[in-house]
Amino acid sequence: MKSRGTKKGDEPLSKRPHLEPSLPTDPALYSGPFPFYRLPSQLGCFSLDEQRQYHGDARALRYYSPPPTSSQGPNFDLRDGYPDRYQPRDETVQEKLDHLLHWLMEHRGQLEGPSNFSLRGPGWLAGATVTWRGHLTKLLTTPYERQEGWQLAASRFQGTLYLSEVETPAARAQRLSRPPHLRELMYMGYKFEQYMCADKPGGSPDPSGEVNTNVAFCSVLRSRLGNHPLLFSGEVDCTDSKAPSPEPPTCYVELKTSKEMHSLGQKRSFYRYKLLKWWAQSFLPGVPNVVAGFRNPEGFISSLKTFPTMKMFEYVRNDREGWNPSVCMNFCAAFLTFAHNTVVQDDPRLVYLFSWEPGGPVTVSEHRDAPYAFLPTWYVDAMSQDLPSPPKTPSPKD
Ligand code: GDP
Ligand code: MG
Repeated sequence: MKSRGTKKGDEPLSKRPHLEPSLPTDPALYSGPFPFYRLPSQLGCFSLDEQRQYHGDARALRYYSPPPTSSQGPNFDLRDGYPDRYQPRDETVQEKLDHLLHWLMEHRGQLEGPSNFSLRGPGWLAGATVTWRGHLTKLLTTPYERQEGWQLAASRFQGTLYLSEVETPAARAQRLSRPPHLRELMYMGYKFEQYMCADKPGGSPDPSGEVNTNVAFCSVLRSRLGNHPLLFSGEVDCTDSKAPSPEPPTCYVELKTSKEMHSLGQKRSFYRYKLLKWWAQSFLPGVPNVVAGFRNPEGFISSLKTFPTMKMFEYVRNDREGWNPSVCMNFCAAFLTFAHNTVVQDDPRLVYLFSWEPGGPVTVSEHRDAPYAFLPTWYVDAMSQDLPSPPKTPSPKD
């Protein structure tokens, strides 16, 4: 493992103290004006099936189908079907960016040049950062996070900066020793989705079926934060056929569950901690609404509430211990600048590992090949091939 020192100033390197580059995360350092964030647009989508196989279509997209509004509220039993109708995804499989890379490989012809015809010069993708939405969510919430650190592996290839999360030793230990009640709580979140979604537009939910968490619908989005073009993908829970603006991503709905709240203290802490994570996750892809189901201690959903993403900050605007969207976005922009300045060499086998633990700065270490390299040879080889010729416009003589 090598660490990169900064090379600044005119004195000989040996006369200056060896500076480890790092990035501070204190909220006070990032409280400037809200940075530019391009309205996210959907470039495409893909689905993962019951066997976690990739399909380049929307087959796993589900349709928002809330219960009729009654005076009693819903009474969804989130424990129903656990564990006999639960097919949990195998979490020992580290998928890294693979499904997103599969989509990129199949769509590179549309992303490369300034046009999708024969001009194939250095294109938009070469200046972009590619990652999962979930990784960006962790960056957004970093200035306020006090519990869980993270590690992000970064490689530059054909100009593009790729960011892929690495499970920290602490996260791995937690996953391997997850207590039974937490496993059931994870199931309950997916069971809520089953009560709220239909497989067909206009259809009804079927809570008698299995909950299979291999299945996923992912949207692929384009945005830009400051001067950083972004291409990222995130899992989308469902689409609302009755949404006021029916195009993706504004038709998408994020579903969440949370404990019923009774005291003001419980509500304050919900706004300070949980709403921050909900906001970051849905703001990034431009998902306008999060529908929350509140569960009682017996595991039943007793009420529903829609939280518009753009109104979430109002709950903490006047709270000294609240969060600020500008801090989240400015920190993320600063991290992207830091990463771009660190990962200079274009080499898919070279990895910079960015590590962060609460209370400290983001630090970097340099690695080559296993175990940190994450761009597969099938991807590197495919992206290094010439594109097949685009279909020729038939001339009148053909
Ligand atoms: P999220 O925002 O954290 O839900 O993550 P994304 O929407 O960015 O999901 C990216 C990919 O990771 C998708 O294929 C998801 O199915 C998958 N994914 C979502 N949550 C988890 C998780 O807890 N662990 C792992 N390993 N993958 C996950
Ligand atoms: Mg959800």
